[in-house]
Amino acid sequence: MPNAYRGRFAPSPTGPLHFGSLLSAVASYLDARQQQGTWLIRIEDVDGSRCSTDNQHAIIKTLHSYELFSDEGILIQSDRYDLYQHYLEMLIARDLVYPCQCTRASLKRTQGLHPKRCDSDALQPHSWRAQCDIGIFEFTDPIQGPQHFDVSQPLNHPVLKRKDDYFSYQLAVVVDDHVQNISDIVRGADLLETTGQQLWLYQQFGWQSPRLCHLPLIINENGDKISKQNHAKAIPNAEPKVLSSVLHYLGFKDIPSDYSIAQLLVWATERWSRQQLTQANLSLSENDQVLI
Ligand code: GLU
Repeated sequence: MPNAYRGRFAPSPTGPLHFGSLLSAVASYLDARQQQGTWLIRIEDVDGSRCSTDNQHAIIKTLHSYELFSDEGILIQSDRYDLYQHYLEMLIARDLVYPCQCTRASLKRTQGLHPKRCDSDALQPHSWRAQCDIGIFEFTDPIQGPQHFDVSQPLNHPVLKRKDDYFSYQLAVVVDDHVQNISDIVRGADLLETTGQQLWLYQQFGWQSPRLCHLPLIINENGDKISKQNHAKAIPNAEPKVLSSVLHYLGFKDIPSDYSIAQLLVWATERWSRQQLTQANLSLSENDQVLI
């Protein structure tokens, strides 16, 4: 892990930026800035079937309208196919991945899980699955507390490259966090479920994982998290009020009501502490329902 703090916000452009993603962007930014660190934006568009450049441009425009600028060039994952292929081939050479032609229908019997190495024809179109079945990983998340991941429970070999040639988020995120020397990841707690398999990949490559910090999720009145799957709306650009609301959910009190976006970011950077948050989900207040 590098000594200098390097953080990032890594949205997938499958929709515009919504309130929950702005919360992750701001928290990762404040965490980096407070430690005089570098903060990067990375566009995670490996899944070309779900991502669009319109969404990518809209997300970057919105981030910039909230004065959130990447300290280095914005990395676009779809430009990095050869890099992911290089690391996939390392895993192939070590027999840690195998070709798979199983379909959703054929995996119905195992509840969609792929619990054992299948016998597929590598000469036919296939995906690559990781034989990720041994590994216990533990760390203490500054917000979520002690974490324990046993990748054999439930056993499910993840796809690292799909049959249609798209790489998976799991492989690309690990490779890029390593190659970009990311020291600290601050992201939503919904990504905890993928963390065990990411830690397994770090172990196979012999890399140290960045420090991980998972933010509580904002939930609506039905208890659902705000997400693209739940059709969360695009947030308006350049609205100090929206940023104030984000800061409120990040645990700030007495937020100045007459500050510009830039002033709010400076104010919040001086006061930010991960301890303002606990693992409990954040319930969206009635006033903020309009934002989602
Ligand atoms: N690209 C992922 C998403 O938008 C987030 C990746 C991460 O922060 O690790 O959900």
